[in-house]
Amino acid sequence: MIISSSKSLIHSGVMLPYSSSWLVFANLLKWNRFYDIRQLREYFLLSSQWREPSVHWEYSKNFPMTELETAMSLEVGALKSSFIDWWFPDMEHSHRAQIRHCPQCIKAGYHSVIFYFERVTHCPWHGHALELCEKCTRLLNVDFTSQQAMYRFGGQCDHLSVVLGLTRPQNLDAGFFYEVDQWVTDFADWIRGSINLIGRSAHEVLVNTLKSEMMDVSIAYGYLVRNLGSPGFANDAFNNSVVLTLPCPKLRSNSENGVSRNLGLPAIMGGLSEHERHEMRACVKSLRRYIFKRYIRYHRKCLMRLRRIEHDQWYMLRADVACPCVMAYLLVVAKNWGVTPFDFIHTRKRLRLNSVSDARGKEASRIHGEFEAELVTKLGDFYRLWDMLRNSHLVDAECVLCLDRNFRRVWGFTPESYQTGSIWGVSTDCDRHLFMEDPDSLISKGKGNCRMRLSLPLTIEADTARKRFHIKKDNISCALFNSGMKRGGTHDIEI
Ligand SMILES: [Zn+2]
Ligand SMILES: [Zn+2]
Ligand SMILES: [Zn+2]
Repeated sequence: MIISSSKSLIHSGVMLPYSSSWLVFANLLKWNRFYDIRQLREYFLLSSQWREPSVHWEYSKNFPMTELETAMSLEVGALKSSFIDWWFPDMEHSHRAQIRHCPQCIKAGYHSVIFYFERVTHCPWHGHALELCEKCTRLLNVDFTSQQAMYRFGGQCDHLSVVLGLTRPQNLDAGFFYEVDQWVTDFADWIRGSINLIGRSAHEVLVNTLKSEMMDVSIAYGYLVRNLGSPGFANDAFNNSVVLTLPCPKLRSNSENGVSRNLGLPAIMGGLSEHERHEMRACVKSLRRYIFKRYIRYHRKCLMRLRRIEHDQWYMLRADVACPCVMAYLLVVAKNWGVTPFDFIHTRKRLRLNSVSDARGKEASRIHGEFEAELVTKLGDFYRLWDMLRNSHLVDAECVLCLDRNFRRVWGFTPESYQTGSIWGVSTDCDRHLFMEDPDSLISKGKGNCRMRLSLPLTIEADTARKRFHIKKDNISCALFNSGMKRGGTHDIEI
C-alpha cells in the first residue's frame, strides 16, 4: 500500500501492464473510499468543466494525467497507454468504450486497455470471447449519493465484486503479464502502421463502438489486415476491398464569414473567374468521361434501355432490373448539371453546371483545394450510390425514392461500403476514406447480372404504381420498386 507525498492517493503500488483506465479508476475509488469518480475529480479540485458527466473516462484529456501519476507515485507517462488517446494521438472524442471482460482475466481482477477496441472480440491470452457487462460499463458514469453506493453496485455482477474487493481475486501464473507485454507491444506497432496507412480513420476502424446496420466496418478492417498483416486477433472473412481517399480541403481563404464548406461544387464555381469556370467545367466533364470509360461502357445496353423509356416510367422502375451501375452514373452526373437523369439523357441544350445553386454560390468563399476534394467526393458518390442500388433489396421498403437535395452529398449507406467520418461527424479537417468492394470484381460480377436483367421488364405495371403510391414528382429524380417486399412504405436516397 502506497500513500504518496503532497497530494496523494492510496493505491496498491502495482500497475498491471496495459491496465485499462476503467480498471485504474475503479481501483482508485475502491482504495481511497471515494464513492464515485466525481469525488476523485473534486479531489483534484478540477474546475467546473471537469464536473460534466464522466462519459469519457477512457480519454486522458478528461483528467490531469501528470497530477494523477504524481499522486500515485508513478513515473510521468506510466498511465498513458491505459487511455485510448495514447493509441490514437490527436483524436477527437468518439463514442465511449463499453466494458467487456475476459471471464478468466477478470477473475484475477485484470481488465486490459485492448478490450476497449471493438475489433478485439476474444482475449488474446485466454481465447475466451469478451463479455459485455452493462453494470461495469455504467460504474464510472453514476453519481452515487452515499458512501456505500458503489459497493451496492458491486454485488450486482461477478466482475465488480472482484474489482471492488468483495470477492478474492485468483492468482494468474507468473508468465501471464510477460505475455501481455509482448503481445500489446506488437499490437501497438500494428496500430502505428494503420495510422500511417489511413491516418485518423484508423481510429474509427478499430475503436468503432457504434453499431451501424447500414455500413459494415469489417470492409475497412479487412483492408488494414490485407495491407499490414494480422494484428494478432481473429479476422473476419472479407472481400477484396479498396479505398478511395476523400481529401480534406487544406485552407480556407475567407473563413470569417463562415460560409459553409458543405456547399457543393457549384457554390465554389460562383466565386470563380470566367477562365477558372471554364477549366472546372472541363474537369467535371472529364470525371464523367472517366466513369463512362471505366464502367458504363460495359453497360451500354442497360443505358440504351433507359434512354428509350418515357418520363413517367422513371417513376416506376423495377429495383431488381434497372442497372445499378448506369443508374448511379446518371443520377450523380445529372446532379452536377442540376437536372434529372431523364433530362440529362434527352436534353440537347448545353447544360450549365448546376444552375440552381450557381446563383447561391455567388457569395461563397473559395477554399483552397475544395474543388479537387469535391471532384473526388463525386467519384465516391458514384461508388456509394452504385453500391446502394445494387443492394436496394436490403432496404426494408417497397419503394426507393431518389430525391434531389441541392448542395447535399449522396446520403445513405449500405453494408457493402464503409465511409469514415460519416456517422460521428468526426471533425471535417481530416481526410475521409471510402472503403468498398474492388470495382474490378464488381464489373465482372455485374456483367452476368445485367444480361439476365435485359430479359425482364424494366418497369412495374402502371396501374400498380398509381394505385400503391401517389408520387409527387417535384424533387424526385426517379422511383425504384422492390417487388415482393412485404412491408410497404418508402425509403429515400438523397442525391
Ligand atoms: Zn483473458
Ligand atoms: Zn460487470
Ligand atoms: Zn448494367
